[in-house]
Parts: sequence; C-alpha cells; structure tokens
Amino acid sequence: MKTFPLRIGTPDGLLFQDEVERVVVRSITGDLAILAGHCNFCTALGMGEAHVVLEDGTVKEAACIGGMLSVMNGTCRIMATTWEWKEDIDEARAESAKQRAEARLATKDLTEQEYKMAQAKLQRALVRLSVKK
Ligand code: ATP
Repeated sequence: MKTFPLRIGTPDGLLFQDEVERVVVRSITGDLAILAGHCNFCTALGMGEAHVVLEDGTVKEAACIGGMLSVMNGTCRIMATTWEWKEDIDEARAESAKQRAEARLATKDLTEQEYKMAQAKLQRALVRLSVKK
C-alpha cells in the first residue's frame, strides 16, 4: 500500500514523524481518514479516538484532543492541542478526571462557562478511557 509523510506536533514539540499508510482522526465534522494521494486540505480537529497505520501495518492508537490537520503537497501535518498514544494514557487519572467532571456537572449552581468546561473535561476523560480499553 502507498505511504505518505505524517508529522504530528503538540505545543510541546514534534511527537511523530514517519511514512504511514493511513491516519484516522475525529474532525469537527466527523471521522476522517487520510490516505496517500489526498488533495490539499485543512480542517479543525475535535476530541476523539485517532489511529495511525504504519508502513509495516502496525496500528498505533491515540487520544486526540483538538487541533488542526492539513495536507499540503502530499504531507499530512497534525498540530494537536494534546495527542496521547494509548500506552501513555494514565487510566486511573482519566477515571478520576471523569468522576470529578461528573460531580461538577451534578451541582446546580454552575455558570454556563463552568458547565461547558466541566463538559469538555468529561469528554476528554471519556475519549482517553475509550482509547485505553
Ligand atoms: P486532568 O484533570 O487529569 O489534568 P484534563 O482533561 O483536565 O485532566 P488536560 O488539560 O486535557 O487534562 O491535559 C493536561 C496535560 O495532561 C496534557 O499534557 C495531557 O496530555 C496530560 N494528560 C491529561 N490527562 C491524562 C491522562 N489520563 N493520561 C496521560 N496524560 C494526561
């Protein structure tokens, strides 16, 4: 199968750079798969499960929490707010974040902003737990 160059960065630096067969991410309009030969393209990323298929067929799963994806002249670049490979996700931490977010959402006196922040935290935790399972 044809491959293409993929670079994944976060605000902490370059996380991944290699030839891959496919990358799948959650964009703001739904799941998106990029294969070799994709036209030039740019989209915002949502929060969701992601995976990369390496040249040897190995699948690397990850949690992607927002960012941007572009394809320019055959190279795919992902600049993620956070990108955590499955093996790097701390399940106990995600479970604890989930419980704290749920407890926060159950309180009655949240402002709209506090409610949105708690919802986003819950969603991040759910994505991490779902990648980890
Ligand atoms: P927490 O309350 O546990 O910090 P959070 O969803 O608020 O959860 P973020 O603000 O999304 O955390 O992330 C802050 C940093 O911590 C990022 O670098 C992120 O990659 C890392 N991080 C957060 N949760 C986990 C986790 N469960 N496992 C590994 N890294 C995590």
